[in-house]
Amino acid sequence: MFEKILYPTDFSEVARKSISFIKQLKGAGTKEVIVLHVTDVRNIDAWDWQTATESLIKIKKELGKKITKEMNSIEAELSKAGLKVKVRFEEGVPLREILRVEEEEDISVIVLGSHGRSNIAEMLLGSVSEKVIRKAKNPVLVVKR
Ligand code: ATP
Ligand code: MN
Repeated sequence: MFEKILYPTDFSEVARKSISFIKQLKGAGTKEVIVLHVTDVRNIDAWDWQTATESLIKIKKELGKKITKEMNSIEAELSKAGLKVKVRFEEGVPLREILRVEEEEDISVIVLGSHGRSNIAEMLLGSVSEKVIRKAKNPVLVVKR
């Protein structure tokens, strides 16, 4: 039933908490995990590319390195737990990319955090998790903060 998991992560504390649940889902038949990070282009587009270009390129490069490092460590941890792992880096709007990968990879369940990097106390859910719950085709397992 939970053969192929889509695990979208923003590397936040709550998203990280999902990893232990994913490992436990192995007992419920999980074989493969698609780990997805979406670089939100809405942030990048807001940058002023005309001025201070050099430092912006440097920031983007550093960000890329950090993302790769985070993804490698998640991949290692899940592989060690005996799961087949595929990592995907996408650029775009997180919701749209999550739904696109859900289709593309023929996912059975999405596992994500109730909140992410903003983690505002008053919010019942983050905007990405709320929209994923609304729009995804498959069951969504929401890991609470
Ligand atoms: P908001 O973004 O609305 O201010 P938030 O950051 O607290 O609130 P969300 O962004 O909805 O909450 O994050 C909920 C979960 O969605 C995260 O734990 C993570 O699993 C997933 N997620 C959020 N952003 C991304 C992203 N850029 N790429 C992949 N997964 C993401
Ligand atoms: Mn967020």
